[in-house]
Amino acid sequence: MEISFKGKRALVTGAGKGIGRDIAKALVRCGAETVAVSRTQEDLDSLKKEVPSIQTVQADLRDWDGSRKILEAVGCVDLLVNNAGVSKTAPFFEVTKDDCDFVYDVNIKSIINVSQVFAKGMVESGRGGAIVNVSSVASQVALKEHTVYCSSKGAVDMLTKVMALELGPEKIRVNSVNPTVVMTDMGRYAWSDPKKADPMLARIPLGKFVEIEDVVNAVLFLLSEKAAMINGSLLPIDGGILAN
Ligand code: NAP
Repeated sequence: MEISFKGKRALVTGAGKGIGRDIAKALVRCGAETVAVSRTQEDLDSLKKEVPSIQTVQADLRDWDGSRKILEAVGCVDLLVNNAGVSKTAPFFEVTKDDCDFVYDVNIKSIINVSQVFAKGMVESGRGGAIVNVSSVASQVALKEHTVYCSSKGAVDMLTKVMALELGPEKIRVNSVNPTVVMTDMGRYAWSDPKKADPMLARIPLGKFVEIEDVVNAVLFLLSEKAAMINGSLLPIDGGILAN
């Protein structure tokens, strides 16, 4: 399937590393003028070296007001990928207020903040747009020691639906992708121990974890006109876990 984003402007959060970095590079390959937002400047510098046409913007999305000011200066985009995310694992009784603030600030609050900025531009331009939130299958499958992460992604799923409901009439489609484990820095943090990874693999009918490319392809599809009538959907990329 050919997907072209020629003439479109796209923005990806958390584009310094992992899944977001590859989404940003794929958007450039598909012809979109692409803005990569992330926290660590060195990651953005190396991305810029790899893909000189990309625009990089450093912002800490935990800082609601500060990042909003930076993003408001970026101007309008047609395509938005809310990918930035963090994880903290701990047994339920050991979860701290700081863990909750850290994870909810990035995984849920920043999506509201960033989307308000760019959806406003999509409405004002009259062109509409498409937004993909990177959620997780952990939004729907309870995982031990993932209290904060699972609950944050559950919130992302419902946020996706509410945004689809309110923004649909403005010609803005909002969907999520919900992968299971991908071996990025985040994936390695939670799943490197075979004692945890093996039972997780055993729950996946396809018997393997997700490749970054699997997520990239699903995001490109949902952003594209090929998904013109898909709005408010939560797309599992889980090898069949949810079919269990
Ligand atoms: P990753 O390799 O850790 O990359 C996350 C990216 O988000 C990094 O570039 C990071 O920048 C950025 N980020 C984090 N906090 C930020 C902040 N406050 N402000 C700006 N940028 C920030 O993680 P990943 O595995 O690619 O995850 C990407 C998304 O996929 C997340 O939403 C995650 O929940 C979701 N997901 C991941 C998996 C998995 O197994 N890996 C599975 C399902 C869903 P810094 O490093 O500079 O902080």
